[in-house]
Formats: sequence, structure tokens, C-alpha cells
Amino acid sequence: MTDAVPLTALHVTSGGTRVYTLPVRAFPNFRANVYLVVRGDPHAPAYAALVDTGGAGPDSLGDLRAGLASVRDGYGEAVGLDTLGRIVITHPHPDHLGGLSALREHTEAPVAAFHSAVPFIEQPGAIRAAWLMQPDAQAVWLGLPPGSELDGRIRRRGSNLSVPRALPVATPLRDGDVLDDLLHVIHTPGHEGN
Ligand SMILES: [Zn+2]
Repeated sequence: MTDAVPLTALHVTSGGTRVYTLPVRAFPNFRANVYLVVRGDPHAPAYAALVDTGGAGPDSLGDLRAGLASVRDGYGEAVGLDTLGRIVITHPHPDHLGGLSALREHTEAPVAAFHSAVPFIEQPGAIRAAWLMQPDAQAVWLGLPPGSELDGRIRRRGSNLSVPRALPVATPLRDGDVLDDLLHVIHTPGHEGN
């Protein structure tokens, strides 16, 4: 269990972009990283983006806020949720996408997402419906009696949505794209399934 707020870490690219690693408790006992990308004068950054959002729980948003505060205090960057100019979603797993709904209450920053993640954000109800078709077929294939505990577990998993209500994606991303004249999209398949 990670009770203490973890430290942030700074990397500076050859082009001078500052990339901060902000660890958050995406779920109980599970830490994920959110990345803050900043360019320009630290006192008034010309560009500030979050890459991924952590999980949906309050610990995750709290850790993100604490991470941003440590970037302000420790590095002198004038950044906060309300100064973000962009949110990037790499893939639709709940430890990366789950925090988006809560973030939406604090920032109007447009969302860019890898194209395969877009339906999870813009059409979560359709994704749920598709998932709930699969457990039926899986349960039959596995020989699970309808109403058994495992059958119920598969169904509950399918009912969980990373984004409970539809949110707009301003920019779908594909391999080779350059976002905001800064971020180069490199498709690295294998982790997410496509
Ligand atoms: Zn993942």
C-alpha cells in the first residue's frame, strides 16, 4: 500500500520540454504514472499537457493534485489543473483513462486520444453493451451455469466503465501524428490488444 504521496521526477528532452512523472494511486494498492509535459517560461508556461489521467478514485485525483503542487513548489512551474491546455489518453485502461471524468470538472482542456480509445470515451454505453454480449458467449463456452458467481463476476467486469458518461474527444491520434507541434505518436501495440 502506498500511503505517502510519491515524489515527482523531472526529465528534460533535447528540445527543452520538461516532462514530470506524477505517480498516483490509480486503485488501492496499484500505482500508475501520469505525465505532465510543459514548455516555455516556467512562470507562465506556453504549453502544459497531461498524458493519461490515473484512476477514477479520489486517491488518484488527490495524488495528482499533490504532484502538481510539488511541481509548483519544487520546480517553480506555474501549473495546475486549471492551466492545462491538453489531455492525452494513450489507451483506454482504467488506470489511464479512469481519472478523465473527475478531471473534466476542473479543466476544459481538449482531449486527444489514440483512435482505438475514442469509443471508450465518446460511446461508453455502446462499449458496455458490446462487453455484455461477450460474457454471455464466454459463459456458454466455459459451461458456466447462468447466475453462477463466476458468470456474475464476468458481467460485473463488463459493466464497469472507465468513463461513466460520454465525453468528447477533440483529436483522435494515429501512429505518426504530431500533436500540438510537439508530441509524436508512436504506436506500440501489445499491451492493450490492438
Ligand atoms: Zn494499460
